[in-house]
Amino acid sequence: MDPDVVDTSFLRISLYMRYYYASIHFLCNTFLVHAFAPSDGRIHLDGDEVWVDGVVPGKFDLQTIGLHELSHVLGLGHTNDGGAIMYPTTGSGFRKGLGQDDIDGIKAPYHL
Ligand SMILES: [Zn+2]
Repeated sequence: MDPDVVDTSFLRISLYMRYYYASIHFLCNTFLVHAFAPSDGRIHLDGDEVWVDGVVPGKFDLQTIGLHELSHVLGLGHTNDGGAIMYPTTGSGFRKGLGQDDIDGIKAPYHL
């Protein structure tokens, strides 16, 4: 980045390969991705994973995973509601959208 440019971005999405990114998250194969709560705005994706758009057996849907992580960046935590995108785990070959718990959760801080 140009040192004269002031970075005012809120969201920063990065793709890291296991051997490049020395993070315990990816090295132990327990996380596909992780995000940081506000006001950090970073999302790190495992670049060794084959990401797909849609439901493909054995592959992870980038829309589903991305929606979950973007929700973390916006301040949502995990929920026990299995119908919510903020349920802490998801399987491969699966697509999921926002649930009512997610919608209520993102509205609450803004009193909507
Ligand atoms: Zn999460």
